[in-house]
Amino acid sequence: MAGIAIKTTDGTRTSLSPEALAALRGGLRGELRLPGEAGYDEARTIWNAMIDRRPAAIVRAVGAGDVIQTVRLAAQHGLLLSIRGGGHNVAGNAVCEGGLMLDLSRMVSVRVDPGARTARVEPGARLADLDKETQVFGLATPVGINSTTGVAGLTLGGGFGWLSRKYGLTVDNLLAADVVTAAGELVHASPIDHPDLFWALRGGGGNFGVVTSFEFRLHPVGPQVIAGLIVHPLSAAKEVLHEYRALVAKAPDELCCWAVMRKAPALPFLPREVHGTEVLVLALCHAGSLEAGMEAAAPFRAIGKPIADVVGPHPFAGWQTAFDPLLTPGERNYWKSHDFVELADGLIDALVTAVRGLPSPQCEIFIGNLGGEINRVPAEATAYPHRNVNYVVNVHTRWSSPSEDTACVGWTRALYEATAPFATGGVYVNFMPEDEAQRIRAGAYGPNYDRLARVKAKYDPKNLFRMNQNVPPAAPAVSAVA
Ligand SMILES: Cc1cc2nc3c(=O)[nH]c(=O)nc-3n(C[C@H](O)[C@H](O)[C@H](O)COP(=O)(O)OP(=O)(O)OC[C@H]3O[C@@H](n4cnc5c(N)ncnc54)[C@H](O)[C@@H]3O)c2cc1C
Repeated sequence: MAGIAIKTTDGTRTSLSPEALAALRGGLRGELRLPGEAGYDEARTIWNAMIDRRPAAIVRAVGAGDVIQTVRLAAQHGLLLSIRGGGHNVAGNAVCEGGLMLDLSRMVSVRVDPGARTARVEPGARLADLDKETQVFGLATPVGINSTTGVAGLTLGGGFGWLSRKYGLTVDNLLAADVVTAAGELVHASPIDHPDLFWALRGGGGNFGVVTSFEFRLHPVGPQVIAGLIVHPLSAAKEVLHEYRALVAKAPDELCCWAVMRKAPALPFLPREVHGTEVLVLALCHAGSLEAGMEAAAPFRAIGKPIADVVGPHPFAGWQTAFDPLLTPGERNYWKSHDFVELADGLIDALVTAVRGLPSPQCEIFIGNLGGEINRVPAEATAYPHRNVNYVVNVHTRWSSPSEDTACVGWTRALYEATAPFATGGVYVNFMPEDEAQRIRAGAYGPNYDRLARVKAKYDPKNLFRMNQNVPPAAPAVSAVA
């Protein structure tokens, strides 16, 4: 085996000798993959097709031992290191150009303890892996709305979905984590062990180490829940959204209703003439009994004159996959997102106007519905600070050809600017594209930023874990001289 040139954290290159590579390859339970080898391209290909980077080497780990060896090698040589969980992050930090990529996507075990109502989850597991295992026991924890998303990245940024108004963020249900630190040591982080690290993991992203196991609290959910879509023409969108915001303000925590504006896909329950026209979709899910769910959904179903209403009992694990066909990997994606306390009239006007000029048929604007239990947690209790937010708007621009890049990115940025006056200034770290480093301090972390930088200095003083929405380590405190 020949040696390789590989990028370092200072932007230069170093070489890994044939002996070093052979030692790594021989020590792994998983695989080392170099360019041209089987599995290399599969590992470096992520959800967002805008990201096309070629690491010098990829470790496809299958256990914590592989992770430790990889982190130690990277630390020893100062290598540029990226970490891949589910590979869904729009910013694409899972893959580095010319460095060492640690691919965790083969670590997919989920072990449920139905008696204790907990689940231990490996970092390559997708939401579907978690939902399918837990739903066998009628249990679930809040995660996102697209089942191919990785549990790891979603959790480390905060994590919210249909169950979050009732049961909080994903991080609010994180009980403990096993973490390989920049020193290559495996530590257990919990409210008792390394509580500073445990605090930082709950929203601070991949800054603090590689999580090899997550332990979550589970709740009784389903297996059948009331869920479904209510579809309106865009011409009614403003009136519908005005009623929507009034209903959301008094909805029970069990009910979560998102509003999505886009061109209608060719769904079988929509009349053919509606396909491809702009629509507003209310998508809702109720985390309680079927009877209570029908009652809570009723006022939302009574808004206006919908084109279609397919709200009813659905298997929860199935509902979790409902949006998968619209969010498949392999397309080009650019996102811009704001947090909101209220849906102001001006915000609704700006969003509806923008939908009339969608730059591609796959684009969508969604209004995610937060609040409830999420907002009963103090902002300083976890690294995720946005505990006053009731709505998160994500402008999800999605297209196929690089020739459309300029138009699509430009449209997204213009809408972001138009809606900024109504926003809190905060942003969900997991919705940030790769060109938003300037929003990390004030936007993503605000009051929690300085504490995160201190925890970073303790666990990763050389910023080995920098392929993320990066929080550089705080400078060592200088003692005052009299
Ligand atoms: C279609 C789609 C729908 C989404 N819907 C939701 C939603 O409903 N709710 C929501 O909250 N979010 C949602 N998201 C955002 C999602 O939470 C982020 O994209 C998240 O980062 C994905 O995690 P991943 O493991 O798949 O990503 P990856 O790209 O693999 O990882 C993202 C980053 O996390 C870090 N990381 C990953 N694994 C580890 C690990 N084990 N240890 C340390 N660091 C690690 C790394 O820094 C990495 O760059 C959605 C994303 C997509 C693409």
